[in-house]
Amino acid sequence: MDDLQDLYQQLILDHNKSPRNQGKLVDSNRQAQGYNPLCGDKLQVYLHVEDDIVKDISFEGSGCAISTASASLMTQSVKGKTVAQARAMFDSFHQMLTEDSASESDESALGKLVVFSGVCKYPARVKCATLAWHTINAALGDASEQVTTE
Ligand code: ZN
Repeated sequence: MDDLQDLYQQLILDHNKSPRNQGKLVDSNRQAQGYNPLCGDKLQVYLHVEDDIVKDISFEGSGCAISTASASLMTQSVKGKTVAQARAMFDSFHQMLTEDSASESDESALGKLVVFSGVCKYPARVKCATLAWHTINAALGDASEQVTTE
């Protein structure tokens, strides 16, 4: 395992141990639930969207290290972005994990989220990493909806 992979792993472990933006968002106006039956990951994503901007975001749930770290990093990445930017990030993230490797453009669009680029080598884990993103995508699209990765 090279240094970069090691660094990526550290970041995932750190976000799993102390997830950012965890807990219920009191003034949320959109939310969605996500479920990954393959692994048993469950997530609830809360958003406060105003003037087409994600003013605040949080999540709660229970799942494996990858799904928790992904949700944590997702909330950090999306906070303060416009709805269109958040959707574009979902697309880039999804593309990164369903293609062979991260390209240069992925890195500039995704920032820290490239830590999950190694996950595409483990197909069973891809759904863990994308669950939070499928869930926010649903929350952005409708008031409340349940999504599964199946
Ligand atoms: Zn999982």
